[in-house]
Amino acid sequence: MNRRTFLAASASFLAKPAIGAPSARSAELDVVIIGAGAAGIAAARRIAAARRTCLVVEATNHIGGRCVTDTRTFGTPFDLGAHWIHQPDTNPVAKLSPGQRLEIYPAPASQKVRIGLRYARERELEDFLAAQVRTTRAIDDAARTADAACEQAVPDDLGDWRETVEFVLGPIAYGKDLAELSAVDFAHAAERNADAFCRQGFGALLAACAAGLNVQLSAPATSIDIGRNVVVETPKGRITARTGIITVSTNVLASRIRFISELPHRITAAFNDLSLGSYDHIALQLAGNPLGLDSDDLVFEKSTDTRTAAILGNVSGTSLCLIEVAGSFGRSLSAQGEAAMADFAETWLANLYGNQVKSAIRRVSATRWDSDPYTLGAMSAAVPGGQGARATLAQPLHDAVWFAGDAVHETLWGTVGGAWESGERAAEAVLQRLAGVRQPEAREQRPIRRRRAARRRTEPRDFDRPPRIMGEE
Ligand SMILES: Cc1cc2nc3c(=O)[nH]c(=O)nc-3n(C[C@H](O)[C@H](O)[C@H](O)COP(=O)(O)OP(=O)(O)OC[C@H]3O[C@@H](n4cnc5c(N)ncnc54)[C@H](O)[C@@H]3O)c2cc1C
Repeated sequence: MNRRTFLAASASFLAKPAIGAPSARSAELDVVIIGAGAAGIAAARRIAAARRTCLVVEATNHIGGRCVTDTRTFGTPFDLGAHWIHQPDTNPVAKLSPGQRLEIYPAPASQKVRIGLRYARERELEDFLAAQVRTTRAIDDAARTADAACEQAVPDDLGDWRETVEFVLGPIAYGKDLAELSAVDFAHAAERNADAFCRQGFGALLAACAAGLNVQLSAPATSIDIGRNVVVETPKGRITARTGIITVSTNVLASRIRFISELPHRITAAFNDLSLGSYDHIALQLAGNPLGLDSDDLVFEKSTDTRTAAILGNVSGTSLCLIEVAGSFGRSLSAQGEAAMADFAETWLANLYGNQVKSAIRRVSATRWDSDPYTLGAMSAAVPGGQGARATLAQPLHDAVWFAGDAVHETLWGTVGGAWESGERAAEAVLQRLAGVRQPEAREQRPIRRRRAARRRTEPRDFDRPPRIMGEE
């Protein structure tokens, strides 16, 4: 599947940004923002609200970055990137009312576990959840003394739940195996014990927030010069502004953008310390609900190795099922191409639900974020020893350029909400700078200690809460 072809009629295009063009007048810009994902949109909204001039340059032909909804492939919303709206009561994107009818509804609180061709029994689920809680506590405790790999803290006595617990706490939560994940980052991550979905797609919700912003699409920044002004080169022209906000992913920063003056070592090291994990959706359209799942059911497999996945069944009540692959296994599978991903999903599902599943598959499409040239991965997660890099990236460069994005948040890292908040913070700092207010030497982000147990509970599902209709608040 070519991500760009099916994006052509994506829901993201419904809310068109005001398309700007670099011009002679761009010399008068207050701010140039690189990247129209969650962080770039949040920053641009804040700058525009303060009546400062601002242009967002975006490499691709659409806005949203890693939070984008495709409606063409399946004729139903398919979030190619972010789908879960974590902590909807405080999530900055969910709290916005973009002025059109978008329905946000709570995600089921429970999860299922498949053991071969049957579901785990009550007692087995209790063991699984207890193993998750113990592992989470052990990593949190280990993080108090050193920023080692999460894996080093995993209790030895998890028995045959070990692989499943490692998959749920590492790849499926943060895109990295526990061996590649910083224990301190894990311990600082904000709680994710309540989630919601947007029926029209998380990407559609984000795109609606970008309406009216000044965005130049298909204009990849190739170089950035930070001198008396910030000068950004794109194939569509040169943009000059007094300040800049860079929101592209750490993997892109590390390899695809040229800075004219050499960056300090601590900054280039931070890009690597906060590298992206791998996470992809293999989307299957299934006729006749052959898995027998309810709307938005989340299913894990009791696995014996890393070749496993999760199922998000019947997305928003449709016939779309997402097979979620992540971490080192997801990365190597995605590198083999879409056909290999489809093969894996088909065989894996047949092992769990029987061979008849194969004949119910009507259409398959898979994302491959690691090979998307403007992202090069899924979500930022610190490597062992690398958590301090988040504070480093929050510092301005030459009092003129700020980094923002999912890597620049101490607790909401790797999420749309975190990217959004970091964009707002960068915009605030830029506005102060433009107003001549001196910046403090170091901006401190206060980590919120997480009190997280299992990611989702196993209580009976709660469908009692009515859907929240955006625009009616
Ligand atoms: C498969 C997947 C599932 C996910 N699931 C969730 C989830 O359920 N919930 C959640 O909260 N988060 C999830 N995430 C993470 C979330 O999507 C990201 O953390 C968030 O969207 C990052 O936003 P951002 O603005 O920091 O970066 P991006 O969205 O990457 O935005 C950066 C923008 O910069 C553009 N760009 C790149 N290079 C250039 C250049 N040279 N010039 C100009 N523009 C450039 C890119 O095209 C992009 O539009 C998921 C991510 C993936 C990939």
